[in-house]
Amino acid sequence: MSQRTQRWPAIWRLVILSQTPRIEAALFRHLLDNAAIPLIGSGVGSLLVAWAQYGIIAGQLELAWLAAVYLTIGLRLLIVRHYRARQTTGEASPSEAMRFALTVGLSGVAWGLAGLFLIDTSPIGTVVTITAILAMVMGAALTLSAFLPAFFAFTVPAILPMILVLATRGGTGDMTLALYSAIFLLLIIGNARRFNNTLRQTWQLSFDKEDLLAALTKAHDLQSTLAQTDGLTGIANRRRFDAALQQEISRHQRSGGQLALLILDVDHFKNYNDTYGHLAGDACLQRIAEVLGKHLHRGTDLAARYGGEEFAGILPATELAGALWLAEQIRTDVEKLDIEHAASANAGHITVSIGVASLPGRQLGSPSELIDLADQALYTAKLDGRNRVLSAPEKLA
Ligand code: GH3
Ligand code: MG
Ligand code: MG
Repeated sequence: MSQRTQRWPAIWRLVILSQTPRIEAALFRHLLDNAAIPLIGSGVGSLLVAWAQYGIIAGQLELAWLAAVYLTIGLRLLIVRHYRARQTTGEASPSEAMRFALTVGLSGVAWGLAGLFLIDTSPIGTVVTITAILAMVMGAALTLSAFLPAFFAFTVPAILPMILVLATRGGTGDMTLALYSAIFLLLIIGNARRFNNTLRQTWQLSFDKEDLLAALTKAHDLQSTLAQTDGLTGIANRRRFDAALQQEISRHQRSGGQLALLILDVDHFKNYNDTYGHLAGDACLQRIAEVLGKHLHRGTDLAARYGGEEFAGILPATELAGALWLAEQIRTDVEKLDIEHAASANAGHITVSIGVASLPGRQLGSPSELIDLADQALYTAKLDGRNRVLSAPEKLA
C-alpha cells in the first residue's frame, strides 16, 4: 500500500513529461500490455546477427553474446509476467517501473555489445549488424516510448557502442554511417517523445471523460435521492411512498403475502402551531419522523411523510397483529418525547393517532383501497379521542 503513495523519483522528471501518477501508471500498464513484441524482435534479430557474424568472430564469443541477449529476454519476460499478474489494481509503483526500466537497460547493453562486432567484420556482417541494431532502436521507439525511462534505457546503450566503433574505424563511409546513426538516434528520440506526449494526452482525455462521468453519475444520484426525500424530515416523500406502495402491492399480489400500512397523524397540531409557532411545529415533525424511522428499520420497510403532519409506514410481509404492535410502540415513543403541548386535550404533550390496515395479497387492489382502510381507522381513532392506535375493520374475502 505504501508504494501507491510513493512519489516518482526526481530523476524521472528528466525523461517524463508530466508528473501525473495516474497517467504514469496508465502508460506503464500500456507498456506491459505490449511487452511481448520487442522480445520477439530481440530473439529473431539476435539470431540474424549471429548468422551474419558466423565464422568471422570467435564462436564462443558469439554464443556468449547470444546467451546474454536471451538471458535478458528471459528476465524481461519474467518481470513482465510478474507485474502483469500483480497489476490487478491498475496501480504502477515507481519502484516497479524503475526495475522494469533496468531490465530493459540490460537488454540495451546486450545489444550494444553487438556494436563491438563491427570492430572487425565482413561487409555483410556490418550491414546486418547495423540494420539489426537500428531496427531494434526503431522497435523500441514504437513499443517502449509509452514509458520514456525504459525507452532511453534501451536505445542509448544499444546504439552508442555502434556509433563509437563506426566513428573510430577510419573510413569515410564508416564515419558517414556513424553520423547517420547519430542523427537517426536523435530523430527517434524526438519521435518517441512526441508519441509519448500523444499517449499522455489520450490518457488525460480518457481520464477527464471518466471523471466527468463519475461527477455526472454522482450529481444524478444526488438529484434522484433529493427528488424522493422530504426536505423537512429527511425521510421518504410522498412521491417515493406512492411508488413503493404500488410496488409492494404488486409484489404481495404475486406472493400472496400480507402487506400492512399505517397512517399517523399528529393530534391537535394546528393548535400546536398556533401556540408555539411554525418553527417549533417543524422541529416537532422532525422528531416524530425520527421515531417512525427508528421503528421501521427493516430493509423493506418504508417510513414516509405523507403530507403536512401526516406520516405513513409501509410494512411488507406483516400481519395485522404485528403492525398494531409496532404502531403502538411508535405511539408510546412519541408520547415519551414529552413535547409540551399545553393546548392539547391529551395530557399536555404531543400525541399521535395511528390507523393500521393489513391485507393478504389476494385481497389487495389499488393503493388507494389500502390507504382508505388505514385512513378510516385513523378517522375512528380521532373520533374515539385521539392518542390511540386502531385497525381497519377486516375486509371480507
Ligand atoms: P387533528 O388532531 O384532528 O389531526 O387536528 P389537527 O390540528 O392536527 O389537524 P388539522 O388538519 O386541522 O391541522 C393540521 C395542521 O398541521 C395545520 C398545519 O398548520 C400543520 N402543518 C402541516 N404541515 C406542516 C409543516 O410542514 N410544518 C408545520 N409546522 N406545520 C404543518
Ligand atoms: Mg391531518
Ligand atoms: Mg392532525
